[in-house]
Amino acid sequence: MITDEIANAILDSKSNVFLTGAGISTESGVPDYRSSNNQFWGEYDSKDFYLSNFLTNSGSRMRCWRSCAVFYETMKNAQPNPAHLVLAELERRKLLRGIITQNVDGLHQKAGNSKKVVIELHGTAHTISCVDCGRKYDSEGIYTSISKWTSVPYCENCQGILKPDTVFPGEPIIPNVAKRVLQMATSCKLLIVIGSSLEVQPAAYLPLKAKESGAKLGIINLTPTPYDKYADYLIYRPAGKTLAEIVKKINDQVRPPTEERTGQYGP
Ligand SMILES: [Zn+2]
Repeated sequence: MITDEIANAILDSKSNVFLTGAGISTESGVPDYRSSNNQFWGEYDSKDFYLSNFLTNSGSRMRCWRSCAVFYETMKNAQPNPAHLVLAELERRKLLRGIITQNVDGLHQKAGNSKKVVIELHGTAHTISCVDCGRKYDSEGIYTSISKWTSVPYCENCQGILKPDTVFPGEPIIPNVAKRVLQMATSCKLLIVIGSSLEVQPAAYLPLKAKESGAKLGIINLTPTPYDKYADYLIYRPAGKTLAEIVKKINDQVRPPTEERTGQYGP
């Protein structure tokens, strides 16, 4: 079975990197915030999310904040699903070198992955920063007061414009982050894509970079991606069920780090 092959590849490689997209978090009830044509964002205008509009047009900024507040409310109480828990388990077992995620929900860290292994390509929805002085704010504090807003929020320190720490369309990826993900993709032995349709750059070019550098490629996604023809392992199934099956096969071959961790992923 293909899940046996992936389990064996994970055990053999030991230098495993996972690239996760919105599909890993939809099972936790988190909507895909980058997709402008899905049901969740359907009533909002994606133009308000372009960085230039956000920074120069207070109307755009207000609409953007209200959209972000709706997303934050939906996301903040989401819990990790079996797919997130399996990746945390693989880190504990020293079978995971890194996670490159397109998600902004922080669910990998909530599942137990350490901060140092998770690279958030599109930033995080959990903090907000001043674009002028760089002061950081906890999103919860800003959004709880949104119903009282008569104008967009400004920095308490310098009155600068506040912006969610998510990467907006038209906003470049932080150079240090771009460098780290490229280094990770080109030095791993196995890259497994989970729940990403691989349509948004820079994540989309990472599978090819990994292949060119000699890594094997796995793709677990509900629908086909443009890179399926390069995949050594390809599965069109939900992430949670598939990863639970893979970790069970790993557990059948190697003892888990502690006994109480067995059986937590369900059938
Ligand atoms: Zn400031």
